[in-house]
Amino acid sequence: MLEKLCPRYRAESIFALEPETLRAQGIKGLILDLDNTLVEWGSEIVPAELVAWVDRFKKAGFKLCIVSNAVPQRVEAVAETLGIPGLPQATKPFKTSFKRALAILGTAPEETAVIGDQLFTDILGGNRMDLYTIWTPPLSETEFLSTRAVRRLERLVVKRFRKRGLWG
Ligand SMILES: [Mg+2]
Repeated sequence: MLEKLCPRYRAESIFALEPETLRAQGIKGLILDLDNTLVEWGSEIVPAELVAWVDRFKKAGFKLCIVSNAVPQRVEAVAETLGIPGLPQATKPFKTSFKRALAILGTAPEETAVIGDQLFTDILGGNRMDLYTIWTPPLSETEFLSTRAVRRLERLVVKRFRKRGLWG
């Protein structure tokens, strides 16, 4: 169980991720979390830097899809701005939306990375699907009250990972 919470890779931010590096690992598709990964929690504001980052991956031939537990309105707004599909109310870590996303992307699990800031939704769900899981630190400290409780658990898990040398 604990291993399923451990990301395969950790990046400082999405902007530290390069199409060339991921392609060299056989990755062709990206499943992207929305809140605190692409944009600040609860925000619809899409920075120019994010548009440019998504465009670089598109131009490199990657398929991208947002998979978010958030409500449809915001997910669709951001997805539309970025020109990529978006699946709202995804109920991560359950597999349903990850499977739908793979169908949309047209990629196999081993060709697909999931990028997100939460161990108990993005990383657990991605690992259960055998995707390449990439964790990035949350963009803001604002979150649901329920998420804040989960963060406490995340800190305990990370402590265990550190002890085992899995978290650097
Ligand atoms: Mg998130």
